[in-house]
Amino acid sequence: TTNFVIEGLKASIEGKEILKGINLEMKGGEIHAIMGPNGTGKSTLASALMGHPKYEVTAGSVLLDNEEVLEMAVDERARAGLFLGMQYPSEISGVTNSDFLRSAINARREEGSEISLIRFIRQMEAKMKDLDMNPEFLHRYLNEGFSGGEKKRNEILQMMMLDPKIVILDEIDSGLDIDALKIVANGVNAMRSEDRGFLIITHYQRLLDYIKPDFVHVMMQGRIVKSGGPELAHRLEAEGYDWVKEELGIED
Ligand code: ADP
Ligand code: MG
Ligand code: MG
Repeated sequence: TTNFVIEGLKASIEGKEILKGINLEMKGGEIHAIMGPNGTGKSTLASALMGHPKYEVTAGSVLLDNEEVLEMAVDERARAGLFLGMQYPSEISGVTNSDFLRSAINARREEGSEISLIRFIRQMEAKMKDLDMNPEFLHRYLNEGFSGGEKKRNEILQMMMLDPKIVILDEIDSGLDIDALKIVANGVNAMRSEDRGFLIITHYQRLLDYIKPDFVHVMMQGRIVKSGGPELAHRLEAEGYDWVKEELGIED
């Protein structure tokens, strides 16, 4: 089964250290949630794992099935099976949703075994139906003029089409109404498998009512400071983060 091990990961932006030593171990079949106050480095963690050039990794290791992810280029990470559903997906004018996805899928395949156009369109249409997306989104420019909710559904569509081993979803629930949230959660749950692990970054317990985590981690000031089960998310929702700070003697 899939194995994902983050050890002592440190990362900086413009010389400022944001991640101060992240340790996290995930296996296929598991759902891990990361919660934490704003500005604690959750999105930085997601971006550093994907190899975003803005983030300089200064220490640590990230092994996906015993291969060092930190030595891989961005496209190699995607090919190895890492996927990030972003908090703020970018708009790309001139590239349609279907062009983008087809080249992303083909980039993950061996040369000569590219997905046929017919097969690709059929798969896309079926998945878009599951996500209650208008088929016209296939032909729209990537995320251009999409509403917040449409962008998030589109991220889930990409996840479904790419069939990754490790899925990182950064605040996929933000900007979603309850119906869209359920659709997105159903999409995630349909993708649960023994070979796939999920890292769900969220501010709100609400998402975790629909996507049930096995483990919940609290991130503060660039570190995972506490880990537990789903009950931890409920307590954070009810009481906020102050009790964690007090318990651990963390100053603001
Ligand atoms: P979270 O996702 O937990 O809200 P972020 O990872 O987005 O936190 O941000 C962590 C810290 O890094 C914050 O102090 C933020 O201001 C800073 N930061 C994030 N992205 C950038 C960037 N592109 N340039 C400069 N500072 C950044
Ligand atoms: Mg934030
Ligand atoms: Mg964030």
